[in-house]
This record gives sequence, C-alpha cells and structure tokens, in this order.
Amino acid sequence: MKIVTTIDEVRKQVKQWRAEGLTVGLVPTMGYLHEGHASLIDASCRDNDRTVVSDFVNPMQFGPAEDLESYPRDIEHDAALVEAHGGDLIFHPEPEEMYHDGFSSFVDMTVLTEELCGLSRPVHFRGVCTVVSKLFHIVMPDRAYFGKKDAQQLAVIRHMVDDLNMDIEIIGCPIVREADGLAKSSRNTYLSEEERKAALVLSKSIFLGMEMVRNGETDCKVITDAMKQLIGQEPLARIDYVKITDAKTMQQIPVLDRPALCAIAVYIGKTRLIDNFFTEDV
Ligand code: AMP
Repeated sequence: MKIVTTIDEVRKQVKQWRAEGLTVGLVPTMGYLHEGHASLIDASCRDNDRTVVSDFVNPMQFGPAEDLESYPRDIEHDAALVEAHGGDLIFHPEPEEMYHDGFSSFVDMTVLTEELCGLSRPVHFRGVCTVVSKLFHIVMPDRAYFGKKDAQQLAVIRHMVDDLNMDIEIIGCPIVREADGLAKSSRNTYLSEEERKAALVLSKSIFLGMEMVRNGETDCKVITDAMKQLIGQEPLARIDYVKITDAKTMQQIPVLDRPALCAIAVYIGKTRLIDNFFTEDV
C-alpha cells in the first residue's frame, strides 16, 4: 500500500495498472476512516483488481461557518485501516494540489441540491460535485463507491455521472452503524458523553420510520410527524429537517407511491448529524 500526494503520482500508478489490464475502484473520503469507510474499501476490493482511496478534507464543500478547521484528521490511522482492508493506494493531496492559484471551474447542479442538506448547506454540493469530478478525472476508475449514509450525495453523484456522461459505475453501500444504532461518522468524535447518548435519537427515529413503512404506512406526514415527535423528546436535539422524498429527484412526496428516501438532519448540541433510510431497503 502506497500513499501519494500528487496528481502525477496517481496518474502514473493508474496508467501502469491499466497497461497490465487491471480494473480500478475509487473510494472518495475525507479521511479519519472508520468501519463505514472500510465497508466501501471492502466492496471495491471485491469488485476491482486495485483500489484507490482518496483522503482529502475538501475545503470547497464547507461553508464559512462550518467545521473545516476542526474536522478530524489522522493519516497514520487511515493508512493502517486502508492497508488492513486491502486498499492499494491512498491519494492524500494538500488543498493547493487540488486547487491551484486561479482555480475557477466548478461543477454545479440544480434541483437535487436545492433540497434536504442543500438548504442549510448552500455551497456543499457544488464543492462535492467539483471535487468528485476532479477525482474521477485524476483516477479514471471503473467503479466508485459511496455510502448510503450520505444519501443525497449518492443521488447527486449518480445524477452528475448520468448528466455528464461519465463512464463510471456508481456503487451505493449500506450504512454501517455502532452496536447501539448510531450511524458511524467522523463527526461523532465531536460529541461529549452526554451528547453521544442523546445522538441515539437519530437512529431510533430512523428505526421507527422503517417500522411504520414495514407495517404498511404510506402517508409521509404521519411517518415524519411520528419521527419528529420522538426526536422532540430529546432536550439536546434540534431538528434541521425530517423529510421523505423521491429516491432519485430528492423532491418531497406526500405518499409512498414510489421508491423513496426518508432523511433526517439533527443538531446534537453544535454537531449536525444525518441519518436516513431508503424504502427499498426496508
Ligand atoms: P466522508 O469521509 O464522511 O466524506 O465519507 C466518505 C464516504 O464514506 C462517503 O461515501 C460516505 O457516505 C461513506 N460513509 C461515511 N460514513 C458511513 C457509514 N456509517 N456507513 C457507510 N458509509 C459511510
């Protein structure tokens, strides 16, 4: 397993693999890797001859009041995890390597990015689409792996690949959770002991929503109201949104009459956490 910091080094390595007739998978991450990321690396190693993991806290996807500076970083820990899971190359660039002086080209998307997280994070998806496009051009993978944990991101990337005719297969992987249900996230490290307990309200409300769908409830308001009521019982929790949308377009729907996404964003203290389920997985 190798760690490289420049675009040239990635290209050189990937070209060599291509010359040998090998397939390549890409797992884009912001580092501080946990079992959620590991599951994507495992999936890529299963499907491809070689796996590249990008490890880059992308400044462009953070708003001015967000946690860019405090976002956790630990490349030694990440390298050990990638190695243990069979990854072949970590691309760990500095921001200057990705965004040279005078950088001024962006990948922007309307509609899908104007809902859910896009409402409270207006610059986020422009940063995500731009960096993921760059990574796709740098690595030119056969397949790229994204977690359903960031369900809107997954839908946005699928849509971008379709709109812009990128010849890359996008694979969505299931959410990996802690034993008590909390979705694994690098941001969970921000939580105090008390907040960590309070954060369980996210997965509890997700499990409640899933159960209601399983039992045949199709009225989206009935489902989201019950979830909101459960979250409302936790004093440390403040709801950003609890919504049900079309699984592809991210537009809110009143009735479960098609594949849908139930997504939530909740502040626990100052930490904003997300969770969700797709009805197809219930
Ligand atoms: P991040 O480093 O948070 O940008 O995440 C990198 C990738 O890992 C994204 O595709 C995430 O959706 C995915 N991911 C993060 N947490 C989880 C999780 N708990 N389960 C599955 N995938 C995850």
